[in-house]
Amino acid sequence: MTIHDLELIDVCKTYPDGTTAVSDFNLQVEPGEFVAFLGPSGCGKTTTLRMIAGFESISSGRIMIKSKDVSNIPPERRPTSMIFQNYALFPHMNVRENIGFGLDVKKMPAAERDRKVDRIMDMFGLSELAERKVDRLSGGQRQRIALARGLVVEPQILLLDEPLGALDANLRRVIQNELKLLQRELGITFVFVTHAQSEALGLSDRIVVMNSGRIEQISRPHELYTRPRTAFVAHFIGSNTTLAGSDLAFEGENASVQTAFGRMTGRCSTPMAAGAQAMAVIPAEAMRISAASPKAVPTGQNQLHGRIHMRHAVGSIGHFKIDLGGGHVVDVETSTDNKHLMALTVGDAVSVDCPPERITIVPAS
Ligand code: ADP
Repeated sequence: MTIHDLELIDVCKTYPDGTTAVSDFNLQVEPGEFVAFLGPSGCGKTTTLRMIAGFESISSGRIMIKSKDVSNIPPERRPTSMIFQNYALFPHMNVRENIGFGLDVKKMPAAERDRKVDRIMDMFGLSELAERKVDRLSGGQRQRIALARGLVVEPQILLLDEPLGALDANLRRVIQNELKLLQRELGITFVFVTHAQSEALGLSDRIVVMNSGRIEQISRPHELYTRPRTAFVAHFIGSNTTLAGSDLAFEGENASVQTAFGRMTGRCSTPMAAGAQAMAVIPAEAMRISAASPKAVPTGQNQLHGRIHMRHAVGSIGHFKIDLGGGHVVDVETSTDNKHLMALTVGDAVSVDCPPERITIVPAS
């Protein structure tokens, strides 16, 4: 039997006021894995993390750490450590006292505590700040202190609740890299909450996408990005246009649906029955635009016709909105290096097409 570092089995949480924050949550995390919980505000990410830490009780189900049921064990006796959104450092304590706090709670002898605190301060480049009060420090320094405080107790699992949320964009990138390197080096299991897809896609081994308290999809970043399994994930991750369709049909590894703009052919990301209602998910960066006549691409190959509704460039990416008629707009992204395309203007007639392997067919929402 495989021993998972962390396992949530049918976990549900209903708060005393009747709000159901999490339902039927099932997840197995392997030792040393970096898992992100990703989803919009209010979808239940923090509640789930707090249940793992033991700060929130579970209404039903079980939480196991290394095959041991910890569902009814208080936080300080779980092999977990949590980094809070605002770091929750104690302003009246200096850096050394803040970092040593968790060891004091465990009633560790002073000499051993000091040795561990010194070692971790050294590792995080905090030694020179040891006697400083934390309210005199920058956002990045506080972030490091919070991490050091979480790690000094040598947890089996580090739980991080939007730990980069308070940092500006540049510092966030720096600390993201540090966090990833640190996790690799220590080999500790990280469970990370974020509402920012770039953070989840860039840092994690697997991503759990949540929506209204439920899991929508658990996948590795690349698969999540390229093969969403639900319309929710398709809208939440990346930049996709969805076209509703019917009469799902299969041919070899391809699947196609009848949309208002002809049949769209792609690949199913989840088992579906022939004849079903379904949606074609078209990634903006997979669409090719041509100003040429529709003959340039053989018909029947995911070809759409419309007029440029909007266009603008951000850095090296040209963003187009193509009006297909009937209130449907498709998003397309292309490199600004393509001077021919960037010369197109609003109102120009264009064709767009997308290879079948880049289109995903998901169940109708
Ligand atoms: P997220 O972290 O994804 O933003 P949360 O886990 O904080 O989501 O919240 C999930 C849902 O539970 C939300 O509807 C939120 O309003 C509700 N909620 C969170 N904490 C409490 C609480 N203490 N009492 C009642 N409802 C709560």
